[in-house]
Order: sequence, then C-alpha cells, then structure tokens
Amino acid sequence: MSVPEIFASMVFDDQVMRARLPGKVYNSLKQTIEGGAPLDPNVASAVASAMRDWAVEKGATHFTHWFQPLTGTSAEKHDSFISPSPDGRVIMEFSGKELIQGEPDASSFPSGGLRATFEARGYTAWDPTSYAFIKGKTLCIPTAFCSYGGEALDKKTPLLRSMDAINRQALRILRLFGKTNVKRVTTSVGPEQEYFLVDEETFKQRPDLLYTGRTLFGAKPPKGQELDDHYFGSIKPRVQAYMDDLNQELWKLGILAKTEHNEVAPAQHELAPIYTTTNIATDHNQLTMEIMRKVATRHGLVCLLHEKPFAGVNGSGKHNNWSMATDTGVNLLSPGDTPHENVQFLLFLVAVIRAVDEYQSLLRLSVATAGNDHRLGANEAPPAVISIFLGEELQAILDAIEADAPYAGTERKRIKLGVDALPRFTRDTTDRNRTSPFAFTGNKFEFRMVGSSNSIACANIMLNAAVAAVLGDMADQLEKAEDFDSALHDLIRTTITAHKRIIFNGNGYDDAWIAEATEQRGLLNLKTTPDAMAYLLDKKNMEMLMGQKVFQEAELRSRYEIQLENYCKSVRIEALTMVDMARKLILPAVSGYGAALASALTGKQALGVSCGYETKLVKKLSGLADQIDEATDVLALLTEQFDTMEDITEEACFIRDQILPAMDVLRAPCDEAEGCTSSEYWPFPTYGDLLFGVV
Ligand code: ADP
Ligand code: MG
Repeated sequence: MSVPEIFASMVFDDQVMRARLPGKVYNSLKQTIEGGAPLDPNVASAVASAMRDWAVEKGATHFTHWFQPLTGTSAEKHDSFISPSPDGRVIMEFSGKELIQGEPDASSFPSGGLRATFEARGYTAWDPTSYAFIKGKTLCIPTAFCSYGGEALDKKTPLLRSMDAINRQALRILRLFGKTNVKRVTTSVGPEQEYFLVDEETFKQRPDLLYTGRTLFGAKPPKGQELDDHYFGSIKPRVQAYMDDLNQELWKLGILAKTEHNEVAPAQHELAPIYTTTNIATDHNQLTMEIMRKVATRHGLVCLLHEKPFAGVNGSGKHNNWSMATDTGVNLLSPGDTPHENVQFLLFLVAVIRAVDEYQSLLRLSVATAGNDHRLGANEAPPAVISIFLGEELQAILDAIEADAPYAGTERKRIKLGVDALPRFTRDTTDRNRTSPFAFTGNKFEFRMVGSSNSIACANIMLNAAVAAVLGDMADQLEKAEDFDSALHDLIRTTITAHKRIIFNGNGYDDAWIAEATEQRGLLNLKTTPDAMAYLLDKKNMEMLMGQKVFQEAELRSRYEIQLENYCKSVRIEALTMVDMARKLILPAVSGYGAALASALTGKQALGVSCGYETKLVKKLSGLADQIDEATDVLALLTEQFDTMEDITEEACFIRDQILPAMDVLRAPCDEAEGCTSSEYWPFPTYGDLLFGVV
C-alpha cells in the first residue's frame, strides 16, 4: 500500500474537481469555496453530475447530506442514486438541487423549542468549503442544518459564522498595519484525540459501559497508572494493528492522521492529526470519532470516547490547538521577524488574552457536559478554572511592556514597541505546562478543556466569537486614533494590565491556585454543567454573540435548553442503569455469596471447627447488602421525583444536587462489596479485566 496513493482517494477534493469539472464550473466553485461567493445553480448541477460519476466509479450507490445536529454526533439519511428509466431498468441520478439542499425530517432532532416557535421543518444546505467524501457505499455531502426560519439547528452553521466574524475583525486590524494584500483570515485547529480501547467480549458484559459509555461501578484494581509505564510505552501488537487500520481509513478520507501513542492511563491512547482549517478540522474530528469506533469492532475491541470511563485513572480529553493565519501564509500568533510584525503579533496575543478573560464563562460552558464534569477539576486534566499559560519568556516580555521597564531577557533593554525586535521565542520546551487549560505553545494556543467525545465545534465557536469581538473593539479604538503607533502601544499596555489576572504559569492542579484564582483574582470556578450554562444567557455574553452575528437570541435560548437536556438525560440513564445493575446483578451476587458462606458456616459449626473468617465476612456482606439496597431505593425514588419535574434549569440542578450525590452513595458500598466477594460470584468484569484485558 502506498500512502500517497490512498490518501484522500475517497474525497471529492480540489484535485478531483480540477480534473473532472469544466474550467468555468471549477473556477466558479472555487470562488464560492475560497471567497464565499454565492453558488450559481447551473454550477451546482454540473458539480452534482461530476460528483455522481466519480462516486459511482468508486462503488457508491447512495448519497446523504451529512450534518451535525445538536445531539453532538453526526447524522445521515441515505438515498440511493437510482431513478427508474423507461426500459424498466434504473439509471444513477443526482441533481444539483439534491446536492444543494435536503429536507431531512427534523422533528426527532433536538431543537430546544426552535421548531415549536418557528417552523416544524428543517433543511440541510451544502457547505462547499468542506469536501464531499465516500464512506462505505455512500457519498456524504457535508451540510449545515437549519430551520426554515433560518435558525441554526446544528453546530456547523454557527461555526462558519464565527469564522466569518473573526475574518471580518482581523482584516480590520491588518488593514491598520497596512496589510492590504490579505484577503482572508482563517482559524486552524489540530485536535488531539484521546481514547480507551477495551476488549469487546469484556465490554459486552458491562451494562454500564453498554448504556452509558462509562463504568458506574468498579473497585480500584491492584494496579492503575501509578507506575507511569503506559505513557509513550511500546504499543501492543493488537493495538498497533488497530491503529494501522484506523490510519488507513482516515487517510482515505483525506484526514491527516499523524501521531499515535499510548497515553497516561492503562488502555488509553491518543491520535493527533495535522492541523487544518477549523471547519474542516471539525468535520474530520467527527469522522475520526466515528471511524475509531467502527474500526475497533473489526479488531474485537471497543473504543471508549467517554471523558471518564474509569474512576481513579485519567479521563480523556481533546486538546484543541488553535491559531489564526492569513491567506498569504502568515500565522498571526507567531512572532515575526521585524519589529513591526512583532507589535502586530503582540496585539493579536493580547487580544486573545482579553477574549479568554472576558469570555471565560463561554469557553467553560462550551465544553460543559455530564461526562466532562468528571474530568475538569478532578485533579487530572485542567481544572474548571480557566487561565492562560504563556511561559517564562513571553511573560517577561509582557511584564516589561506593562511596567515600561527593561526586559530582563538576553539584551536587557527597554522594549520600544514598533522599534525593537523581540527575541524569537519558539515553543518553550523547558516548561511544557500540562496543567493549564489554555496554553500558549509557541505559535498557537492549546485549549485543553474540550472533552474527548465533544464536538470541537462548540469550543471553537466561542473562541472565534470572543476573539472577533475583542479585535472588533480594538479596531474601533485604533481606527479613530490620531497617532496609530502611540495608540497601539497604549492599547497593548492597558490590555495587559486589565487582563493579566487570567495569566497563570504555575501548577493548575494546586489547591492554592484555585483559592487564589477565585478569591484574589475573581476568576470563575464553574464546576458543573448547570453552573456553567447559566452564563450562556448572561447579558454581556448574549450581546457579544449576537453582535458578532454568531447566534441569534432564539438560538442561544434553544442551546441553553438542549445542552442542559443532554446533561439531564445522560445522568438519568446512568442513574437508572445503576439501579438496574444493583438490583439485578450486584445484590444477587453479594447475597448469593453471603448465603454460600453462611451454609459453609453452619456446616463448619456442626463439625465444631473454627469459623471466624466466615462469620466476619457474612456479617460484612450482609451489612453492605443492606446499605446497597437502601441506597438503590433512594436513587430510584429520586429518579421518579426527577421525572415529575418540568423546568429544565430546576431539573439540571436536581441532577447536580440530588441524583449525582446519590449515585456516589450507591457506588461506595458496591465497590466495597466487590473487594470482598469471590470472583466466581462477581457478576461482571472488573477494572483490572477492562484496563489490562487487551493483550
Ligand atoms: P503536542 O502538543 O502533543 O506536543 P504538537 O504541539 O506538536 O504536539 O502538536 C499538537 C497539534 O497541534 C497537532 O495536531 C498539530 O498539527 C497542531 N498544530 C501545530 N501547529 C499548529 C498551528 N499553527 N495551528 C493549529 N494547530 C497547530
Ligand atoms: Mg498538545
């Protein structure tokens, strides 16, 4: 197999378009893709037939509009190309209209009241900026999903709007720097994806994994991740075979799968692609998650993408590496070669700092899910408090600018912005701070709070919108300035002073930091999804998102509902699964083992031999069984109470304050019972079996 040969072989990409489309059609489509020009219907027709020919040659029989509803996954409804012909046979057809627009029955997708308020139907619209591809036997056309009233029912639409917003505002700034040749600014993302692999047979025996994607019970195994022997460890042949197969599937779809390695927890791994335009990176990440799961089953494995599949070992996240670049190839977050470029870099840098500080709540809520709540702040991946890591060198530069004092770097001189060249700071290799939620890594920022199963769309929508808003405000100020250079200098300095509270270069796991962040710096510590979601309807946040034309008010209200609904539904399923497992599996096992011991005990007593062990254990197991029984009843009752509630905010708070704590209360005696019940009796595979079962 030659990688360059198979790479993107299933993608209707630029190369295929150039080869198969008439010149005029190609140019017109290219203008739409690159410059956002409206699409000519005749062009759509020509593209559709070229796409069909190509897809049919590759063995495709169906097409689908592939979209990302607010469920968090991707959706597709397949239609075959067949159309009856007069001779009683069929021909393969695909029209321009079918390419441009589809009408999936939208009623079963969450809309958070949008459809009730507006229009019952939704439609999908082709996003020509993301290439069509073939998955299985289906030609997939990336689309946006909207209501007929024009409200976005998906994640792609606001993402594209946020990319437009940042483009508009960044161009205004670049004009001020005289960069009139730049036509477009785009954001790029490289999402590093973490996941667990477990054996399929073992997985199937765990109803909790099957229904919820995470273990709801499980005593700590004798070995966890304490030896640090898994991270970057040599990859087991079975896992390697999976990774090889996965890479091939991804490459065929033009996904730039690049890095693979073992992660910190046993059975945990990571896959990182090479970064690309945010919109495409988002589509690719959705596809990557889907294909990871599919390929796993071919290898008798199951890929777990849940943020916290196992208590007591690290959960999984997705590092969202983010940068902004011009169509002329300049990364705006990379320090330049000339003093002039350096001031420009500093302005973009402080704009991001201010955006993260001002809109920290939006970033936090963009990654808020029931699953991710177990991770953020749980003494592993980043804390729930957002802060920025800059590294020593850059910090020293900002300090010097703010204080107008000599820079304590190699040259020890005052930095006159626009006059002096800044030292070249490539990535700070000595201090790879892994605890920061938002770290500057040389020429990009790495947002580490995204959950492993989250779509990266939400985080990037908020990030793009926030940075666009700040750049817009800065442009307003600078455009009015009489003396650009001194206004620029002042703006950079005052921004540092006003927003330096968000910068923290120390250990983000430290309790002392959390205290300092919240008590002295006034940063938010939004530990749970309901805590965070309240901020979506915050006046300042809504105004910003609407002002940047990223969301309409009704869309924000619908998203508030849907995100909380998803939170409630996931936890409710978990609670019901726990009740079920406790009653049907755990209690019978504990009681059954207790009964066996008790009968052994009577037998021994009859013989008059010592039975201290049995007596002690029977008592202990009986006590635990009583506790489990009681905690199960409490949890069952709470879920019934939950089911009578109607207000989503009240429901979410009830989940947070009543249901989740009751789940913890039930889990504790179950895990303790596991620790003293014979393996023969324990009804499902243990943590040890799951974490070390792939050999
Ligand atoms: P790690 O963080 O694991 O050490 P790297 O920082 O080298 O690895 O890269 C992580 C991810 O960041 C990769 O997906 C890479 O493509 C992406 N990346 C590198 N440069 C940029 C950039 N300018 N913009 C966005 N993503 C980038
Ligand atoms: Mg990284």
